[in-house]
Amino acid sequence: MFSIANGFKNYGRQAIQAARYIGQGFMVTPDHMNRLPMTIQYPYEKLIPSERFRGRIHFEFDKCIACEVCVRVCPINLPVVDWKLKRTIKKKQLKSYSIDFGTCIFCGNCVEYCPTNCLSMTEEYELSTYDRHGLNYDQTALGRLPKSVIEDYTIEIIPNLASLSKGVMEGHPDPRRIASS
Ligand code: SF4
Ligand code: SF4
Repeated sequence: MFSIANGFKNYGRQAIQAARYIGQGFMVTPDHMNRLPMTIQYPYEKLIPSERFRGRIHFEFDKCIACEVCVRVCPINLPVVDWKLKRTIKKKQLKSYSIDFGTCIFCGNCVEYCPTNCLSMTEEYELSTYDRHGLNYDQTALGRLPKSVIEDYTIEIIPNLASLSKGVMEGHPDPRRIASS
């Protein structure tokens, strides 16, 4: 008789504990409803890349001296520098230059070591194509100025979340919530 009463007591205690855990779980949902979103609704919203973001490389054909330093410092010898020797002036003349962004790891070595600063990293990161050969940029594609996120009025610009001061974990105001209110 005593053991049956004890069993009921234990069972009741476990049931209360389980109900408490379920209640705690349900409390998480209303707590999250009050928080601002941390995610970005890409491509309708975009983050402003940070100052030293390593995006698509920009190349200035006129400044290149075809020294091939960029090829030697590249961990995969990626840049293709095609040149011919001009015997009359004893100088190399650049014929074409290309980088395949399907293989590039955006380490920035080529930009760092180029003696004439004709390479620079841009904030452009949208490099998807249907054909992987479309990522092999020649000097014309490399010379194109990057599209700035700020100049695109069709999208909502979100400040870089990484730039929030330490300890601040608030997200950004959801433009759809603002529009509906
Ligand atoms: S290091 Fe600079 S100057 Fe030399 S070949 Fe490469 S891009 Fe041209
Ligand atoms: S960023 Fe790095 S991997 Fe890409 S071309 Fe330059 S050195 Fe090579």
